[in-house]
Amino acid sequence: MPTIPSNKPYRVGRSLTGLGLFATKPIKKGTKIIRYFGPLLDSKKKKDDAIENKYLFELNDRWTIDGSVRKNIARYINHACKPNAESDVKPRKRKVFIRAIKNIEPGEEINYDYGTDYFKAYLKPIGCKCTACEKKRKKKRAEARAEKARLKAKAERKALKKAEKLAKAKKQLKDKLKQKLEAKAERQAKLKLKLNGHSNGAKANGKSLNGKSLNGHAGKSATKMVAAKSGILAKPQQLRETRASA
Ligand SMILES: [Zn+2]
Repeated sequence: MPTIPSNKPYRVGRSLTGLGLFATKPIKKGTKIIRYFGPLLDSKKKKDDAIENKYLFELNDRWTIDGSVRKNIARYINHACKPNAESDVKPRKRKVFIRAIKNIEPGEEINYDYGTDYFKAYLKPIGCKCTACEKKRKKKRAEARAEKARLKAKAERKALKKAEKLAKAKKQLKDKLKQKLEAKAERQAKLKLKLNGHSNGAKANGKSLNGKSLNGHAGKSATKMVAAKSGILAKPQQLRETRASA
């Protein structure tokens, strides 16, 4: 960690992305916090133009500050999409200051927007880790989770409905079958009753043949038959014949 004079309102500390610059005292909105400095690179010089690192701060078409030097404490300031500071560029003086654009509380990390070019080149490929972007990502993840849960609940409701429908259809089928079986059983019971009724009747007839009815029609015809057999009916003819012979 670099040593920073105690009269400065910041310190280097651990941040979400590695190291960062943190306020140690309240910093009022509009205050110059720190100068971003380093050797000036001239784009007209081939040697300067060949230098490539993450800490280059372009002042204009010609001049660029190489902020990769160890003494440049401002290089610890991380990028943020919704920052509490900004880079105040003075191209004619070839100087850059980091200035507070909000009141910053002790303990708060100081950051500024690195700009579109840097963002596209270095942050977009790995995903910006600033608080605003993390918040956005968190929200998106929560939304995705909620959407997933919603779809799951929907699928479950659908499955339940289907199961209920199936159960209902099964029950209807079962009821129908039961009704059919009951109707069949009823028919069979009726038929049995009828059959039993017939055989009972036959018994009764048999009884009457053996008993009471002998004195009735059946009895009469039986008398007739007996009479015929015994020749009683032939008697008048016999009588006539006897009379003729006499
Ligand atoms: Zn961001």
